[in-house]
Amino acid sequence: MNQPEKRNPGAAQMKQTLAILALLSLGRATLVSAQDAPALVITHAATRSTVAAPSATFTGTARVENLWDTTATMRSYGGSVAFDSGARTAWHVHARGQVIIVTAGVGRVQLWGGPVEEIRTGDVVMIPAGVKHWHGAAPATAMTHIGIVERSGAQTTQWLEKETDTQYDARPTTPRASSAPAAARNAGDGTQPSAAQRLMGDIAPKLAQLTDSVLYGDVWKRPGLSPRDRSLATVSALIAMNRPDQLRSHLTIARQNGLTQEEAIETITHLAFYAGWPNAVTAVGIAREVFAGTGR
Ligand code: MN
Repeated sequence: MNQPEKRNPGAAQMKQTLAILALLSLGRATLVSAQDAPALVITHAATRSTVAAPSATFTGTARVENLWDTTATMRSYGGSVAFDSGARTAWHVHARGQVIIVTAGVGRVQLWGGPVEEIRTGDVVMIPAGVKHWHGAAPATAMTHIGIVERSGAQTTQWLEKETDTQYDARPTTPRASSAPAAARNAGDGTQPSAAQRLMGDIAPKLAQLTDSVLYGDVWKRPGLSPRDRSLATVSALIAMNRPDQLRSHLTIARQNGLTQEEAIETITHLAFYAGWPNAVTAVGIAREVFAGTGR
């Protein structure tokens, strides 16, 4: 990469001299006396306060702790946001993008038009500049993250509409509202009936209610397995039992929970040796339908 300088050492030397001159002139302009020097800034944890996230731009309950602000020389500012389970931001756009560092719990992030991604403690997420997105807690798990953005003119973050309930409920781990009994949820509160209610609520209302409140409201929300791992176990069982109808819906949920097409196919290939070749071939057909056009 130093080819040009090698061919023309005189130019390289001139460039270096100019750089030194620039540094010297910069130094003269910005040198400050010791008593005017910027102070080291330490904000101790106990001195910082937390405010409720504004309901105009957040759904559910979240608390914001501002950690640092921009200075004359630094464009970044950041804060820690603690989302209760089910809480999340509205759709929004950052002019220069955003870095998210998950410090606790399990959450979700989604770019407009993209899949819902699960994020966990220690994950670092880079949101591209100018792309509409949201982030927040998983339906059944709280999540805290540090968000870092750079100030850009007057409008660093542009807030847009909130997600519809359908957008959030279309998620992997199903009903976030299932702390309320399914019957209450579906009776006159204006939300859509659950998948179980649509499937069998008319003819088997008790089974639909148990599906919503026990299976999805309790078992699926237990923290012992990640939603993706829970999906993988469920999908594996359905492949082994050769249940294509249930496999179709659970592969869809698994995909929302982060299972990729490659992982689904690998699982099916593996299971051919334990559950039988015909079961695996049936599952491949279902996987083709579920992952068609998703490109992942
Ligand atoms: Mn954001």
